[in-house]
Amino acid sequence: MIGFYKHHMSTIIERSVNPDKRRYINENEGPRHFIDLDAYGSDPLAQLPEKWQEAIEQYGDSTLTEHGIVPWHMVRVKYYLTQAFLNQDADQILKISADLGHYVGDAHVPLHTTSNYNGQKTNQRGIHGFWESRLPELFDQQYDLFVGKAEYIENVNDAAWNAVANAHLALDSVLIFEAQISQEFSPTKKYSFEVRGNQTVKVYSYEFSEAYHQRLQGMVERKMRASIKLIADLWFTCWVDGGQPTLNKLILEDNKIIKRRIDSLLIRDGSHGRN
Ligand SMILES: [Zn+2]
Repeated sequence: MIGFYKHHMSTIIERSVNPDKRRYINENEGPRHFIDLDAYGSDPLAQLPEKWQEAIEQYGDSTLTEHGIVPWHMVRVKYYLTQAFLNQDADQILKISADLGHYVGDAHVPLHTTSNYNGQKTNQRGIHGFWESRLPELFDQQYDLFVGKAEYIENVNDAAWNAVANAHLALDSVLIFEAQISQEFSPTKKYSFEVRGNQTVKVYSYEFSEAYHQRLQGMVERKMRASIKLIADLWFTCWVDGGQPTLNKLILEDNKIIKRRIDSLLIRDGSHGRN
């Protein structure tokens, strides 16, 4: 598997943002990225059925869609990826692996488990991008992201819900620490300005980011590690459930397809001069 995924690493990276791009053209896409657990009372994880069919019976499609479906969707995409391995379809394997990685990553972000997803209800607007983008952009060189071997997951439902439950457990700290540190910084110290391309943008200052990052005591790193581990475990599980196809063969075929595409482009180009 390592050979196949390494060979296609740039494709996976490129496609890993596709689910976010699809949000603008597919109305079904949005809810797949989050779940507002606070919409389901004081003990949502005890309330919500792990299985989609039971959840539909209990809450109905529109309620579930409104509050997000990420844990159920991870399980669905796991099924799609298993099918792609069964079909030995390299293109689908890559596309769906990238999709699954995206949803697993989202499921580990505490702010993807609440209706207060951007701190808009607690006067902390901007905290979403702060936690999930600004902090790793500044500090991820310090992270150890090697998580060891992928392992087979017996119960994918449990694994998906565990990820969401653990993300939700960290939510209080995400919000409370930001509020605490904001007390310690004047607004002019909390933010600074950076030039990006030909624009000047307001960002959380380095000092504020560092203080928050320290107070979180490695949370972003832990969540990244947990995401990486679960993505690897799920890819591996899909491969096993998909009959353990020989992936090296797929790399070779893939190269042949690319070569054929290039050849046909050259022929077309030669004969018509456009298209
Ligand atoms: Zn997303």
